[in-house]
Amino acid sequence: MRRPLIVGNWKMNKTASEAVAFIRDLCGRVSASPHADVVLAPPFTALESASRALGSSSWISLCAQDIHWEPHGAFTGEVSAPMLLDLGCRYVIVGHSERRILFGERDEHIQKKVRSALRHGLSPILCVGESLGDREAGQTETVVTAQLKGSLAELSMRDLATVTIAYEPVWAIGTGRTATTEQAASVHRSIRLFVEIGWNSETASAIRILYGGSVTPQNIKSLLVSDTIDGALVGGACLDPDSFATILRLAQIPRA
Ligand code: PEP
Repeated sequence: MRRPLIVGNWKMNKTASEAVAFIRDLCGRVSASPHADVVLAPPFTALESASRALGSSSWISLCAQDIHWEPHGAFTGEVSAPMLLDLGCRYVIVGHSERRILFGERDEHIQKKVRSALRHGLSPILCVGESLGDREAGQTETVVTAQLKGSLAELSMRDLATVTIAYEPVWAIGTGRTATTEQAASVHRSIRLFVEIGWNSETASAIRILYGGSVTPQNIKSLLVSDTIDGALVGGACLDPDSFATILRLAQIPRA
């Protein structure tokens, strides 16, 4: 049975001191549960203070929002896996649609990032998802499968087991237009099939696949009803401790 995972992606929001205040507030509202894992992705500048505020035995794992594939070197403005590990990160988001669309990231970059994360012991959260045009043209599966192929090609079974996939339709991110549970579940099933064909059925049934795109306290429960949706990548609704705590509480209810 896969344990739900909720990831809060702050994007370019919150200073270091706001991060500390948020974590104190959140931890006063909700606590650890054996029924769901929780991950928080502050901006780079708040990782160190967030890490201190969480403490070394925290039930909330720390995640970075991006990574460069080289461990060090002349890459102005970039941050590497060893730097993130040193700050206490366990996860890193890779291939978010905002990076693909606004910063021109392509699958070949994303593949290098996934490999670098794995090489250094960080768990990648790989984002994939179609645009509205792709969906309307009936290209959802083709686009998502191409992104998966381009990013995960030739990973060993062992490496793939530590990857989380986040299906995030671009038309649902930050728009208030959430995919229906059936729309998300249908893409999740095709992702699992892709993993089964490329690796094997054990890996396909073990890998966690999250949904992301306008997840809120109001819709999280209906998404988690599907047994192929293993949690959520949450943007806007994770910025407020009250709404994020509600999402966490709802995700912590044991699944049937
Ligand atoms: C995201 O940033 O990945 C995201 C899903 O954002 P939002 O929840 O705001 O749509």
